Amino acid sequence: MSDQMLAPENTCRQFDIASVREDFPILRQEVNGHPLVYLDNAATTQKPNAVIDEISNYYRSYNSNVHRGAHHLSDKATSHFEAARERISKFVNSPKASQVIWTRGTTEAVNLVASSWGRANISSGDTILVPELEHHSNIVPWQTLAIEKGAQVKPIPVSDIGEIDLAAFDALLDDSVKLVVVNHVSNALGTINPIKEIIERAHSVDAKVLVDGAQAVAHFEVDVQILDCDFYAFSGHKLYGPTGIGVLWGKESLLEAMPPYHFGGEMIESVSFSGTTFNRLPYKFEAGTPDIAGAIGLAAAVDYLCSFDRALVQKHEQDVLTYAIDLLSDISGLKRVGESSNCTGVFSFVITGTHPSDVGMLLDQQGVAVRTGHHCAQPLMERLALPGTVRASFAMYTSRQDIDKLYEALTKVLQFLV
Ligand code: PLP
Repeated sequence: MSDQMLAPENTCRQFDIASVREDFPILRQEVNGHPLVYLDNAATTQKPNAVIDEISNYYRSYNSNVHRGAHHLSDKATSHFEAARERISKFVNSPKASQVIWTRGTTEAVNLVASSWGRANISSGDTILVPELEHHSNIVPWQTLAIEKGAQVKPIPVSDIGEIDLAAFDALLDDSVKLVVVNHVSNALGTINPIKEIIERAHSVDAKVLVDGAQAVAHFEVDVQILDCDFYAFSGHKLYGPTGIGVLWGKESLLEAMPPYHFGGEMIESVSFSGTTFNRLPYKFEAGTPDIAGAIGLAAAVDYLCSFDRALVQKHEQDVLTYAIDLLSDISGLKRVGESSNCTGVFSFVITGTHPSDVGMLLDQQGVAVRTGHHCAQPLMERLALPGTVRASFAMYTSRQDIDKLYEALTKVLQFLV
C-alpha cells in the first residue's frame, strides 16, 4: 500500500514521503544484500542533506572559535552559533534564547540539573519521584544525588499497558516531594505521558518538574511555556541533528539561581587568585569550547523539520504506527508491548518462543535495523517481567513499505526460529 501524499499548508513544503526520503542519503544503501530498512530511530535518527551540508560548510568556510576572536571568521562562527540558539529557543517557544543551554545531549542536561539545581535544593528527607518507565539517564543521576543528600527516589508505578498511574502518582505527592522527573515519550514503548497533568499536580505541592523530551521533540511540537515545566531536556541526534549536541531549557529564575556545573573558560566573568566571578546566562553553564558545528547542525535540522507543516509530519508518523500495529498483529505469537492508545514513534514487541536478540540479528541479516534488549529501561522491563523487547522505531521518513518489509522479514525469522 502506498503512503498518502499530504497537502501543503501556508508556505510549508509539501510532505511527500518519496521526496523526504531523497533528502536522507544514508537510506539509499543495501545492508547484507537487502535495501536498508532503518527502524532504529529512537536510538538515533538519520541526517538530511541540509544538516550534513551545513556542518560541512561550517568546517569548509568559517571554522573558528566563538566569542573570543577579534577576526572575521570568529565573528561569523559566533553569529551562526548564537543564531542557532535563537532558532532552538523559537523551536520550544522559550521566552528568551538565554534559557537555552547547550549540552552534549539529554544525559548531560539531566546531569547538569542534578549536579547544580539538585545539590543546591535537595536535602535529607526530600523525595524525588521517578516513573518506572524512565530511561536510565533520568534515573541514575537522581539516585546518585539522593544517596549524597540522604534523600529518597520513589518510583511512580506504571500500568500493564505502559501508562503512568496518575492515581498512584497523586498518592505519592506530599510536602517531601521536591522534584518530579518524567519523560515526555517513553523510548521503550512510545507512550506519550500526560506531562501537563503531571506538571500541574507536582506544582500543587511546590515540586519542580524536569521533562526528558529526548523522544518527543522530533515527533510533535513542544511549547515549554504552555507546559509550564521547570526544565526540558533533549538531544540533537534524535531530532535529525548531529551527535554530541543537546539542550537544557530552564525557567530563567531557576537557571539564574543555580550554581555553575563545569568550570573553565567561557563561563567566567573575571578570574583572579583572590576570586572568580561567573558569566551571565547561558554562558555560566557552558565552560570550554562548545560544539559549534553541532549547534549549527542542530539548528539546520530544526529548520529542515519545520520546513514542513509539523501537523502533517505527525499525521504521517501516526499513520505508519497504526499501519504497523494492524499489520504486525497478524503475526502468530507476536505481542505488542506498551499498548497505550497515546503512543508515538515506537512499536515494541516480543514473540512467543523467541529471544529478542535472535530476532534482531535475523532481521539485520535481511537489512532491517531494529533495537533489542532493555532499551536502557531496566526497571520498566522488570515491571513488565520481560528480559527485553524488539523495538522498531519510526521517523518522518519511515514509510508503509518499510513496515511491509519488516513484516516479510519477521515472517522469515519465524520460519527459522519457531
Ligand atoms: N532519555 C530518553 C527517553 C532516551 O531515549 C535517551 C536515549 O535513548 C536518553 C534520554 C539519552 O539520550 P542521549 O544518549 O542522547 O543523552
